[in-house]
Amino acid sequence: MKRFFSISVFLLIICLVNAQTNNGKQQTILIRLFNSYNVTSVNFLPVSGDYSIYADSVRLFEADKISFITVSLSGDSVLVQTPAYQKKSRSVRFVPQSSLSSFKLKSIQPDYKVRTYDDELQISAQSKTLRIINKADIEKYVAGVVQWEVGLNNPQEFNKVKTIVCRTYALGNWRRHEDEGFQLCDEVHCQVFKGKTFSQNIQNAAFETAEYILVDDSARIITAAFFSNCGGQTMNSEDVWSKSVSSLRSVNDTFCLHKTNAVWEKKIPKDLWLDYIQTKYGFPVRDSVLVKRVLSYNQPRRQVYLMNDNYFIPLKFVREDMKLKSTFFTIKEEGDNVVFCGKGFGHGVGLCQEGAMRMAEKGYSYTKIINYYYANIHLIRFSQLDFFKID
Ligand SMILES: [Zn+2]
Ligand SMILES: [Zn+2]
Repeated sequence: MKRFFSISVFLLIICLVNAQTNNGKQQTILIRLFNSYNVTSVNFLPVSGDYSIYADSVRLFEADKISFITVSLSGDSVLVQTPAYQKKSRSVRFVPQSSLSSFKLKSIQPDYKVRTYDDELQISAQSKTLRIINKADIEKYVAGVVQWEVGLNNPQEFNKVKTIVCRTYALGNWRRHEDEGFQLCDEVHCQVFKGKTFSQNIQNAAFETAEYILVDDSARIITAAFFSNCGGQTMNSEDVWSKSVSSLRSVNDTFCLHKTNAVWEKKIPKDLWLDYIQTKYGFPVRDSVLVKRVLSYNQPRRQVYLMNDNYFIPLKFVREDMKLKSTFFTIKEEGDNVVFCGKGFGHGVGLCQEGAMRMAEKGYSYTKIINYYYANIHLIRFSQLDFFKID
């Protein structure tokens, strides 16, 4: 570990010295767009830079910024159309002529809002729909994801934290859609990506943290888990997902306590609650002594179980079934109802986003924030990953 760390520091210095030259080398990622939508027709229009259009690897023409090109599904082929031209082919590629090229993409069948993307577009036919892939520079992709995942107007150190987390996630899940011929989809299943960001701040955050990802002591990319608000204490990974992970350890957190999702309340009929624990866990709801334990429950520190003696009731199942914002709640009786008074929002493992935002507002650096929520981690450039690995 000591050896790894000193190697890391040494190489980071080299990386920083060579940052300018490394920036010239583009790392790309393939993202499937409109992943679960059955899009059968789109319009393509260059916004900046020139594009060359290829059908089945044959160069057709250069796209200008005046007329859009329509690509539609036609059996198991695609039909490329302009006002003056049309051609059927297996696939079509819109290849950028510069690193600053970007384009607008409008799904016209079905009708969706126009989106803007960077770099290359590839379209082919697959299972009665268009298979639309954006081959983009990974840093531009990461910047887009940050905007779609957390929005604009966040403190800049928080933007840097999110770019590192999103980049770590992308690299850590590189093979998620390998069998389908791309790396990530554009939905919550991977990371939401509905186009490029125009925010200079987010673009700067991606640029300033370019290539940096989080790895553990063995140089393995970590599961960069995050959620909205921990309510004062994050969770150990094994208490939520059964696997103990060295980077995902419970921490106390006072930074998120006054944020939007710090507290919540949900009231449900008492009968419904008792019926649920009787049906699902065989709990004896007519036992007046035992029943007090599920009508009045306190949780000053995070627990994993509502009960774990004669009756085994994991809080994560209660959260799921009762559709609660978190497992960090107390229960009290109120007339014919029970009231769940809760803290936080989300699974509670890893980075608490509202806490991280508050830390950034208070002037903490992105490295301090990352080290607060993730344990035993190192920040390295992904281009050095294989070099760092000690197997
Ligand atoms: Zn996916
Ligand atoms: Zn928190």
